[in-house]
Amino acid sequence: MQSPLEILQEKFGYSDFKYDQETVIQSVLNGKDVFVMMPTGGGKSLCYQIPALATEGLTVVVSPLIALMKDQVDALRLNGIEADFLNSTLIPKMQHHVMAKLRAHKTKLLYIAPERLFSSTRNDTGTEVPFMDFLKEVNVSLFAIDEAHCISQWGHDFRPGYLKLSQLKQHFQNIPVIALTASADVQTREDILQKLQLTDPKIFISSFNRENIHYYVEPKRNSYHRLIEFIRQHEDESGIVYVLSRKSAESLAADLEGEGFSAKPYHAGLDKNIRDRHQDMFIKDRVKIMVATIAFGMGIDKSNVRFVVHMDLPKNIESYYQETGRAGRDGLKSEALLFYSYADVIKLKRFVEIDDNPEQSAIMMKKLDEIAEFCQRKVCRRKYVLNYFGEEHDGNCASCDICLDKHEKFDGTVIAQKALSAVTRLKENFGKTYVIDFLRGSRSQKIKEWHKSLKTFGAGAGISKNEWHGYIGELIDYGYLLQAGDMYPVLKLTGKSRAVLLGTEKVMLIQSVERETVAESSIQYENDLFKKLKSVRLSLAEKEHVPAYIIFSDATLIDLAAYLPHTLEEMKRISGFGEVKLDKYGELFLKEITGYCQERRLTSQMRMQVAKRRRKSGTGTRGKSVTKLESLKLFKSGKSTQEIAALRALNASTIESHLTHFILTGELEVNELVAQDKIPNIKNALKKHGGLALAPVKQDLGDGFTYGEIRAVVNHLKQEKPD
Ligand code: ADP
Ligand code: ZN
Repeated sequence: MQSPLEILQEKFGYSDFKYDQETVIQSVLNGKDVFVMMPTGGGKSLCYQIPALATEGLTVVVSPLIALMKDQVDALRLNGIEADFLNSTLIPKMQHHVMAKLRAHKTKLLYIAPERLFSSTRNDTGTEVPFMDFLKEVNVSLFAIDEAHCISQWGHDFRPGYLKLSQLKQHFQNIPVIALTASADVQTREDILQKLQLTDPKIFISSFNRENIHYYVEPKRNSYHRLIEFIRQHEDESGIVYVLSRKSAESLAADLEGEGFSAKPYHAGLDKNIRDRHQDMFIKDRVKIMVATIAFGMGIDKSNVRFVVHMDLPKNIESYYQETGRAGRDGLKSEALLFYSYADVIKLKRFVEIDDNPEQSAIMMKKLDEIAEFCQRKVCRRKYVLNYFGEEHDGNCASCDICLDKHEKFDGTVIAQKALSAVTRLKENFGKTYVIDFLRGSRSQKIKEWHKSLKTFGAGAGISKNEWHGYIGELIDYGYLLQAGDMYPVLKLTGKSRAVLLGTEKVMLIQSVERETVAESSIQYENDLFKKLKSVRLSLAEKEHVPAYIIFSDATLIDLAAYLPHTLEEMKRISGFGEVKLDKYGELFLKEITGYCQERRLTSQMRMQVAKRRRKSGTGTRGKSVTKLESLKLFKSGKSTQEIAALRALNASTIESHLTHFILTGELEVNELVAQDKIPNIKNALKKHGGLALAPVKQDLGDGFTYGEIRAVVNHLKQEKPD
């Protein structure tokens, strides 16, 4: 028999254990009953899969999620492990086949629903026997109870079928049981231990901190535009956007599709076929964004969800944490963004009320107040949530909006004066959008001709629309402006405005800092290669009829695209390549990588250097930020984008985005970044498809143009003063 570490490395291709995995596995192998609580994505499965492989006999895994069993079994089989499942989706012929394999001791892991465990089956002579009796003949070495909180009424997802598991110990006194869950408060925990009748169990409770998830809360202002901006930073990545109502799930999904994003709605009111299809497309990476109500997510095991957005306030912290927890199961940097407004709290008060149950209603109301407080308080988001679940944290996470100090303030008096005088000149008769267009000197026909000759017209042209929305929102918050009127609110001055206009009062505004993209702050890799590897993975997944992430996680592909292995021996060191997968897919991925390096003339020496630099900056130090200025300096010294990319071990597209930024600040001219003859074409395409989304523009222009070039022209246009 192999040791647990050997199994981890050779069968699963991982180098080290995570969280409490190692000690949990050791306790199980010592024959102990075990209770494990680990956050989603913590790696609970290996806690019983490795003991299953390290012992003789069968491991029975009880799971309530029938839809997930097949995925789990497929994943194990791809690693060359004999696994099967029994549930109502199997046709009788397949069930016989599974039973025969069990009798022949060929199966190492059997996934089963609790109901089936306590039903009857036919033995080899054809007589009906309880399944329990059948199991006694096939040498069971371990029972694993997944989602163990389902056994408790105190938990958030009680399933009556689980109660039968109380009988398990009566049938199999000496067989160890491992119970696993990702969320259970103290009361639920005790209930699980008692109901399962575990003997002197070893208890493992891991931290709930999900370090790779970054948390941001923003005021719910202009949130649609902010959403677009945000998902554009996550180009080609998977994400979930949660909304409160079915109607907004559909309309927002349609709007996003209209902008050129790959998005579909999901809510309980959709026809089941459609719902299942959308979910399947999401899991298989054919659709990138799921716009959903809370009906979506239970049992979704997709490991490469890169972002979760809450357009509306969740009802409590539990839901918020569960929903954001669906991001980043693969351990890579992921982002959670919530748009908060107090109006949502008022709206939700009606929803959380439970009819004829004042006591329960009061609890729900309190939970609602707590999530509102979470949004309003200026304390580390991570600290607040962890404390809520009874865990300590020092409050310096460096990965939430508060800790990242995106709230740096600056003297915004001049900006405020421009806004207030625009409102004055427009006689307090126009709404926010009009005022902003006016300030930016828009040539649009929507702006009245005679307004275009007013003094403040175009006074704020150097500031983007988004920024203006933010600033005006702040001026409203601080009481320098107010919005009046219900249907078409217009901006009006207040008693405080005059002092600002006269220059006797200073206004401090929040510095808007463009958030760095994931690609910039995580491990640096060849983005184009990553895309190629993803398509190789997708075609394999389609051939094998499994979701792509079951073949390899994004983390594995990113490591391939960062370290560029050229031999199977080198590839073996990449996390995620066990023996079987190395054998099966190694050559295919090697071909892609070596082809890529030849094409880009990355010699082996350069590869080594790149890899060395990357290793030094290390996966452990992911999150180090890189400065745009450095790229500018190199560019000014005469280096090309490609050369800077190679020098800095970054993607060319990242360098492009650094450089285009400096068109805005006036440090670079557009024709330094884009060939002169391309500029008119880009301008035309922008005019035709104007709007926030660049995808349609890019599509129109074709492969000869990069996003970087388009963005350069966009920034150039932002810079141009109205004439
Ligand atoms: P959970 O059930 O706790 O949500 P999973 O068992 O599905 O988590 O594991 C989450 C992801 O982490 C999976 O992709 C799994 O393969 C991976 N994983 C588990 N253990 C390790 C490890 N020791 N090293 C690297 N990856 C791991
Ligand atoms: Zn923080």
